[in-house]
Amino acid sequence: MKLFSCECCNQPLFFENTRCESCDHAVGYLHEVTDLTALEPGMQEGTWLPLEHGYEHSPHRYCANHSYNACNWLLGPEESAGGTLCFACQFNRTIPDLQNTRNLERWRKIETAKHRLFHALIRFGLPLVSRQKDPENGLAFDFLEDAPDGSALS
Ligand SMILES: [Zn+2]
Ligand SMILES: [Zn+2]
Repeated sequence: MKLFSCECCNQPLFFENTRCESCDHAVGYLHEVTDLTALEPGMQEGTWLPLEHGYEHSPHRYCANHSYNACNWLLGPEESAGGTLCFACQFNRTIPDLQNTRNLERWRKIETAKHRLFHALIRFGLPLVSRQKDPENGLAFDFLEDAPDGSALS
């Protein structure tokens, strides 16, 4: 995997980081450029201005799944007008009951793998169409909980 670094202090960053451990800037992922960016707080509550070149004046928001520590991807102004989930999380059709802390932990692990997959697919330039946009052939994820007998609970 490509190594990321903080625009502010050059500290290497991991794909899942939400903060730079060296300069404490908030960090998020911009899927348009498949890169992590350090963030400055924006004018409006909940908005952030990326330090990524060309994005400095574009207020971004974290994906709603950021509040579960399950996603560090950002939504641009147009995307946040249309919803609260990032490009990768919009493909989730079913997620487990997150009141159950065991589910939450396991879901976070799956989300990490899913986000890495999306990072790779976007970089390969592969078309990604969600089930929402194409009900017949679009991609959707159902993250199901195992029932005690091994069948899937939704
Ligand atoms: Zn830094
Ligand atoms: Zn997300």
